Amino acid sequence: MDDCIFCKIVAGDIPSDILYRDDEVVAFRDVHPVAPTHILIVPVEHLVTTQDIPNDNTSLAMKLIQTANKLANQEGITENGYRLVINCGEHGGQVVQHLHMHLIGGRQLSSSLG
Ligand code: 5GP
Ligand code: ZN
Repeated sequence: MDDCIFCKIVAGDIPSDILYRDDEVVAFRDVHPVAPTHILIVPVEHLVTTQDIPNDNTSLAMKLIQTANKLANQEGITENGYRLVINCGEHGGQVVQHLHMHLIGGRQLSSSLG
């Protein structure tokens, strides 16, 4: 996707603080962090929401979670806990139209989700 900011980050065309990369996913720090740790984990492939994950792709969602596990350990936030969020579509508050999981932690988060 030519005009997708996260595709450009994945391709290295826009600089970002990349923490992890493999053939399936890339993880980088959010440019406007809402907590001491705020990392975005995105598929290399341009998918808009979880609805676009093909039914026969049973590994991608797990890969996003496993990458979050690894990075939470690396950030030292596993013991105190953290939040994983995937915003889907307009009512979900999704701003960037490339599937991404937020890993947010390092402080007490609000109990409110809405
Ligand atoms: P959404 O609201 O779509 O779930 O979250 C999009 C996230 O992407 C926001 O937290 C925003 O700060 C982050 N973001 C937007 N543009 C960029 C960028 O160019 N680089 C990085 N690292 N994060 C971005
Ligand atoms: Zn994209």
